[in-house]
Amino acid sequence: MIIANNPELESWIDVPAGSDFPIQNIPFGVIRKSNGKIRCASRIGNYTIDLYALAKNGYMDGTGIKDRKVFRKDKLNDFIAGGKPVWKAVRQRISELFEKNNPHIRDNAEDKAKILNHINDVEMLMPVEVGDYTDFYSSIEHATNVGKMFRDPENALLPNWRHLPVGYHGRSSSIVISGTNIHRPKGQTIANDSELPSFGPSKLFDFELEMAFITGRKSELGDNVPVNEAEDYIFGLVLFNDLSARDIQKWEYVPLGPFLAKNFGSVISPWIVTLDALEPFRVKGPIQEPKVLPYLQSEGNRNFDIQLEVLIQPENAKESRVCLSNFKYMYWNICQQLAHQTVNGCNINVGDMYASGTISGTAPDSFGSMLEISWGGSKSIQLTDGSERKFVQDGDTIIMRGWAEKDGVRIGFGECRTKVLPAK
Ligand code: CA
Repeated sequence: MIIANNPELESWIDVPAGSDFPIQNIPFGVIRKSNGKIRCASRIGNYTIDLYALAKNGYMDGTGIKDRKVFRKDKLNDFIAGGKPVWKAVRQRISELFEKNNPHIRDNAEDKAKILNHINDVEMLMPVEVGDYTDFYSSIEHATNVGKMFRDPENALLPNWRHLPVGYHGRSSSIVISGTNIHRPKGQTIANDSELPSFGPSKLFDFELEMAFITGRKSELGDNVPVNEAEDYIFGLVLFNDLSARDIQKWEYVPLGPFLAKNFGSVISPWIVTLDALEPFRVKGPIQEPKVLPYLQSEGNRNFDIQLEVLIQPENAKESRVCLSNFKYMYWNICQQLAHQTVNGCNINVGDMYASGTISGTAPDSFGSMLEISWGGSKSIQLTDGSERKFVQDGDTIIMRGWAEKDGVRIGFGECRTKVLPAK
């Protein structure tokens, strides 16, 4: 067992019941403190931990951090580039420093003041510089639902789907941090009874419940990442809301796939939860039939049991849960995705982001997009304020949460939140 994952560990920092951030989590993010300083950080309970302040005061000595300035950057990339042994050592050191019996910082008021900030006193910033972004399509339930609606209910999955993790290269410039609000996009759409398109605000604004992994190691052009070594390249995961305009998508996606329907904003949760923290929540993935090609055959448990929910909060109203899904439903796991991404010699970089694709389960209340929940707009759902939705309205806030729970330990991702603003 990874020592920092021991369920018995407790911190001297108060961790409220139900918190996503017990001492067993130790995620990584970037904060702006109230004095304006930007720092790489971790979090326990409701307190952020300034990693630069830790390093400056000698608390990171021996972890393999060569230059403490990596923690004074506005992105985690330079820290992540240090490699997996360093990520592991830093996480372990944080675990030791904040364990309830460790007096070094606990009993040092001066250091404590430099290192800890209440979460309400900091601003969360985009944690990584995203170089390249790939969006997969790896939930069989989602792909089947979409195939049934858009093509043939009898042949919902295209012939390639069970043989490779379908994906496309998306756009990284519009990936933003939770709390960033997004304007309804404008674009070309075509009415059902029309032969010509028209231009205007999208009428079918949607979310996609996804998770994304971030690579922490580069590969060379021409090389591939073997499926059973893929986790050496993966730093951690975030929640990912891939906002989508279904009417724009429907008109533009033939024959090359999504374009402007998907690149006007994708929102991520601010804390990157490491694969190490998720280790206790590994589960087997779905049985893959037919058998996949050798380069995609992963060994061991490569799926993760992470509960995922989506809520819609209309303006001046309470939030309503519209979806409860789970990351474990993924047909293609993250190792298979990365192996496939690189099998042709495509090189990857530190900070690249790979989204899972919409994560739907089999039950309608586990569908990860309004497209599926409303079955293509053919039915409405009722929110707790009595209003109805087929898609997302202006003023609605979309909230995604994710957490894994076992042996009394809850490892969560916090929130991924965005409000839909009227078209500009
Ligand atoms: Ca997507």
